[in-house]
Amino acid sequence: TADTLAQIHAKEDKTKAFITVTDDEAKKQAAAADAAGISADQPLAGVPLALKDNIITDGVLTTAASKILTGFIPVYDATVTKRLKAAGSVLVGKTNLDEFAMGSSTENSYYGPTHNAWDLDRVPGGSSGGSAAAVAAGEVVAALGSDTGGSIRQPAAFNGIFGIKPTYGRVSRWGLIAFGSSLDQIGVLSRRVKDSALILQQIAGQDENDDTSLPDPVPDYVAAMAGGVQGMRLALPEEYLGEGVSQGVRDAIEKAVDTLKKLGATVDTVSLPHTKYAVPTYYLIASSEASSNLQRFDGIRYGYRAQDVKNLEDVYVRTRSEGFGDEVKRRIMLGTFSLSAGFYDAYFNKAAKVRHLIQDDFTKVFADHDLIIAPTTPTPAFKIGEKVDDPVTMYMNDILTIPANLAGIPAASVPAGLVDGLPVGLQLMAKPLGESTIFKAAAAFE
Ligand code: GLN
Repeated sequence: TADTLAQIHAKEDKTKAFITVTDDEAKKQAAAADAAGISADQPLAGVPLALKDNIITDGVLTTAASKILTGFIPVYDATVTKRLKAAGSVLVGKTNLDEFAMGSSTENSYYGPTHNAWDLDRVPGGSSGGSAAAVAAGEVVAALGSDTGGSIRQPAAFNGIFGIKPTYGRVSRWGLIAFGSSLDQIGVLSRRVKDSALILQQIAGQDENDDTSLPDPVPDYVAAMAGGVQGMRLALPEEYLGEGVSQGVRDAIEKAVDTLKKLGATVDTVSLPHTKYAVPTYYLIASSEASSNLQRFDGIRYGYRAQDVKNLEDVYVRTRSEGFGDEVKRRIMLGTFSLSAGFYDAYFNKAAKVRHLIQDDFTKVFADHDLIIAPTTPTPAFKIGEKVDDPVTMYMNDILTIPANLAGIPAASVPAGLVDGLPVGLQLMAKPLGESTIFKAAAAFE
């Protein structure tokens, strides 16, 4: 913990990956872990970890990178926070993100942007950009993130680290500040695949506080890493190598495919024909759910409240006008519109139907394949400021990660080499509850 805090303080100047560093509390927890010693029921005893700042932490400022949560200090822990503490882990801080996890670059943060660990002029990806940059810069060995449409995998790819979004329902969302409740999933980012396996092991599993959490027993993910890819049937969807995917990314993926073949896997080209509808479908569903989830930020219950207000309506209007950033407002308006009477069938309902077609595409491919492999992102990390004024271009950056959220399947990004000095990620997608298969294949890249 002392080393981790020293690394954080040495590097934060440049990366700006953290919103809060909990020095004193971390030192206390580390001392307690030292005193208790290592025991079998505390597999993460004394291991310092960081949490994305949309994960609730008892007694520690939790902001979701929004002005509207200024000064919000929760009085309870998210289930994942509780489980990490029970496993002995030490919380060293809360990492930066796009406000309410809405974004792909960590530029939509009230606290300012985080910088890519490989090139400070570039974005770390988003929305879990703080967690990814902190891990890649060597500030912390692993961190939790959340992934609604790619927010763990895309920053992992942009920073050359491993990141996994588990099956929807594998990890409890209780205490994750909700964005799109049917898509949100907490997962892990780390430099070593094994560290993510160890940590996911601790946070996964049913939770009585989240009815969407799955009752299935949690397998031993570290044990699953053994065995290799010999005989594994991999599918490469042609739609994921289409227009917009840069030559450098294609080359890196081709190399990764060769490696997997040499190790004994078979690779078939397949089609996921509804992929082209994923981005518009996602932005309707995610924004609709967000517009509903964000109603609770009313200036009464949490954080920021506008000053000198005339009446109750003024509290709501002014607090939300002043407290939310532009991207969050854009999503609330889009979502409110798509859910409103007269438009519901044409937009939200239509998107919900297309979502099923996208799910069916995956089911068909998984009938005779163990994993789908693809690039995680169309290009390596872009420059800070390059896409901020063009939301649609920013949204298109998520084209390769969004389908897995719509389908609820587990997906990860593993480092697949460098293009012009910037990391590229290989995405591994499995059928529901297929995390073990992902870990097994990811182990080939360590
Ligand atoms: N970039 C996507 C969005 O802006 C995904 C974000 C996420 O996964 N939280 O919604």
